[in-house]
Amino acid sequence: MPRVCLTVDFEPDCPPYLNTTFRGIEQGAPALLALFAEHGVRATYFTTGDVAARYPDAVRALVRDGHELGCHGVSHAAFDELDEATARREIADSARLLRTFAPVTSFRAPYLRFPERYVRLLEEAGFTLDSSLAKYKRSYHAPRVPTTLTRIPASMTSSVLRLPALVRNPWLLALADPVVLFVHPWEFVDLTHEDLRYDCRFRTGPVALRCLRDVITLFERAGASFVTMRELEARTAAAA
Ligand SMILES: [Zn+2]
Repeated sequence: MPRVCLTVDFEPDCPPYLNTTFRGIEQGAPALLALFAEHGVRATYFTTGDVAARYPDAVRALVRDGHELGCHGVSHAAFDELDEATARREIADSARLLRTFAPVTSFRAPYLRFPERYVRLLEEAGFTLDSSLAKYKRSYHAPRVPTTLTRIPASMTSSVLRLPALVRNPWLLALADPVVLFVHPWEFVDLTHEDLRYDCRFRTGPVALRCLRDVITLFERAGASFVTMRELEARTAAAA
């Protein structure tokens, strides 16, 4: 009976390709909230400071529905391209703004790229959990710094969820516990005609929403429990 943590990177449209539009937040996010409510799933929303500043009502809505609010930096800048002072500012500024909506203790770096030397910046800013690692990336196997943070990696990249069920489902069911999946609100807007990398735009829009519903149903039938990052952290700590 796997534990499944559904996460949403709540950010501008398909960075770095579009990045200046927020159709995902405006059009995709309400459908996503409705789907989660329909299935009683509580998710974790790694939100950028820019989104929180522009769309405070969207952030209030997810908090009101019982989802966990997490931090995804301010501007969706890649942390491995930032100097330390800028990285510290990105973390502090986004944390300060997001914490005006709800307690925020979980962090995920944009592009799942976060230099180990910056992990202590998260500790300084009061974070207790980092989900910037990804099991399917080579960097997952690189040496790590000691830290007080609980580190919970993503299991698989988001576009896989949009594959046809025949390919997708056996793959998902074979993932180790805890299963950490992520989606973006812009995937639920039709971007198929945009000038984007194919894996970003394929099967976006209503198809993507149907795929996510199928994925939730798949795990429900497998007896999975849906948990937030904070819940996973609590159980990891209890088991240690
Ligand atoms: Zn992101």
